[in-house]
Amino acid sequence: MATRQQVNKIFKALDLGRELKGANAGGEWFADSGDFLDVVDPTTGTVIARVEQASAKDYEKLMRKAEAAFVLWREVPAPRRGEVVRQLGEALRAKKEALGQLVSLEMGKILTEGLGEVQEMIDICDYAVGQSRMLSGPTLQSERPRHRMMEQWHPLGVIGVITAFNFPVAVWAWNNALAWVCGDVAVWKPSSKTPLCAIACQNIANEVFRRNGVPQGVSCAVIGRGAVIGERLVADARVPLISATGSTRMGKRIGAVVGERLGSTILELGGNNALVISEKADLTCALASAFFGAVGTAGQRCTSTRRLIIHESIYDVFLKKLVANYRKVRIGDPLDPATLMGPLIDEGAVADYEAAVKAAKAQGGRVVYGGKALDPPFGHRTFVLPTIVEIANDAPIVQTETFAPILYVMKYRNFEEALALHNGVPQGLSSGIFTDSVAEAETFTSFRGSDCGIANVNIGTSGAEIGGAFGGEKETGGGRESGSDCWKSYMRRQTNTINWGGEVHLAQGVEFQP
Ligand code: NAD
Repeated sequence: MATRQQVNKIFKALDLGRELKGANAGGEWFADSGDFLDVVDPTTGTVIARVEQASAKDYEKLMRKAEAAFVLWREVPAPRRGEVVRQLGEALRAKKEALGQLVSLEMGKILTEGLGEVQEMIDICDYAVGQSRMLSGPTLQSERPRHRMMEQWHPLGVIGVITAFNFPVAVWAWNNALAWVCGDVAVWKPSSKTPLCAIACQNIANEVFRRNGVPQGVSCAVIGRGAVIGERLVADARVPLISATGSTRMGKRIGAVVGERLGSTILELGGNNALVISEKADLTCALASAFFGAVGTAGQRCTSTRRLIIHESIYDVFLKKLVANYRKVRIGDPLDPATLMGPLIDEGAVADYEAAVKAAKAQGGRVVYGGKALDPPFGHRTFVLPTIVEIANDAPIVQTETFAPILYVMKYRNFEEALALHNGVPQGLSSGIFTDSVAEAETFTSFRGSDCGIANVNIGTSGAEIGGAFGGEKETGGGRESGSDCWKSYMRRQTNTINWGGEVHLAQGVEFQP
């Protein structure tokens, strides 16, 4: 449990006070709503800070700064913007320990995962620096004589970034590092469950941006109620792109509102990720990956392993080994290096966990391990046992994402059946197969295999690298973030045809003379 002294040290290192304000456009923090948000340590239930949330007036002030900043920022050459992001990566390296601890303190993931999340921010900054020199479009062949065609990518404008509580810093960096090198300015609305992480990130960016003379408004953060700030941002026609990470319920709402005004979205929503464990698998690797996927981050990753589809011939042996691992999970203070599983984010998450276990039992499930909330070790009812339930894939509870460490296990007889079970859910984020069969591996990653945005072989469902495009299909929303060519989502494409021949030629050979 973080002592008061430890908390003070983290706050000091990140320039955080106990009474904070929720809006920032690069200068002083401001807010005049009089509406305070308590920041609760999920481990102890202690209120560690209070944030005055932004009002509609604060939002307007911030948005005007952002709009003005865009006009200036887009004039800065992209490699120069990349240099600022490079320095942000350096600043994050310097603050990695403190920021990782804050993630662990405020969100409840264990320290190694908190530090890993900051490393992901550093990695995407490095990636974006290189990308800043590669925002390129092709030159195309024109059908007309002495004409040239080309594509250019231009900055988009003010983009809105909405993030979930479970990756309170990395998702900001995934979006913003790329958006900034692309010449956009970004307004971040973080989860109200993790405002301190947002304030700390904004403070770090502010310092780097100020040193480099970056206009105020390029980096904005706004903490406020969904109804006041979230809905306003989403409906704001000045914001051409909303990149939103969160539940499918949230994504459906945001998709509808942004769609109504014909804006663009990147929607990174809930998953229901499965691992297929073939009888031809290296079971030691499969076990380690299934265990981390299901128990890591207390099951609170969008890519957490929620279903195991195991060949019937190895089912009993595999399950026995998995249960043996579950018995050894050290549950407790996320900041203690010995802990393997911390708390859930709040008591509401525990209620969701309990309701899911109850529903699973009612729908024919058998609890193989866990299934109970724990007596609060630090006075706050946020700790649960990681849970394994044997159940059919078509049980309604298995078809939904419960954001908790509940793993549903089921048997399959042949590979086709495994694929059908695998794809038989509404979500499509991450997936994996453990097998040494080339045919199974290739089929799984082929067009007739996994229907997810991420399909791995001999790797678990969680823990993606930043170099790939991250995102999913079906109810996961279809968005892609991070590596590959995802930068294109943050820019607008322009096709140029240039006539250098001194004669007019119409396309498709059309003649039009007076
Ligand atoms: P959530 O949907 O409750 O909230 C996510 C964010 O959306 C928060 O900032 C919230 O304030 C905001 N929000 C909610 N309704 C809004 C509205 N109408 N207008 C504007 N903003 C609104 O999700 P959560 O509990 O914070 O996070 C867990 C969920 O996020 C899980 O479903 C998880 O799978 C998903 N997630 C997905 C990814 C991914 O990349 N696919 C990554 C992380 C988390």
